[in-house]
Amino acid sequence: MTVTLPDLPYAKDALVPHISARTLDFHHGKHHHAYVTNLNKLIEGTALAGMTLKEIIKKTVNNPDTVGIFNNAAQAWNHTFYWQSMTPNGGGLPTGAIAERIKADFKGFDKFIEQLKNAGLTQFGSGWAWLVVKDDRLEIMKTSNADTPIAHGLQPLLTVDVWEHAYYLDYQNGRGTYLDVFMNHLINWDFVNSHLV
Ligand code: MN
Repeated sequence: MTVTLPDLPYAKDALVPHISARTLDFHHGKHHHAYVTNLNKLIEGTALAGMTLKEIIKKTVNNPDTVGIFNNAAQAWNHTFYWQSMTPNGGGLPTGAIAERIKADFKGFDKFIEQLKNAGLTQFGSGWAWLVVKDDRLEIMKTSNADTPIAHGLQPLLTVDVWEHAYYLDYQNGRGTYLDVFMNHLINWDFVNSHLV
């Protein structure tokens, strides 16, 4: 059994004008695809073949001998979570249970937005900004390169990819603009709510 590249949960042009079809074509069709292909090559014939991505990530984290496998598995998992974190006509004010949780844990939606944007902007180089549940509280965190909250036992609710390949074709070096667009127009609050327990 091999790891497969899941389809995008929407058409390639569904996020226009916020994220172009060209960006999704490269990002999903080339970058995400390459992580899956590389991972399958690396785990072929090993005990990891046949495990879920989550299992592979947990088995290989913090092991210098399996850095390549971890990086490709975590990137494969992170990207699938990122595609689902977005939806056409998303973003803006939260709906459902997450709205109350944000109000309680961040002292208001504006503070949440400020912290998420700050995490994305201050992640030096490549990485991800996340909304996670930690000790029953919502928290913003950032991870470097392929690192992922699920490797550290945390439940992610939302992620935004801040590798340059996520925004460079559309916004060049404007990571802040891309983060504003993500928060104002793309966040899939139904997806966020689906992970709240
Ligand atoms: Mn990416």
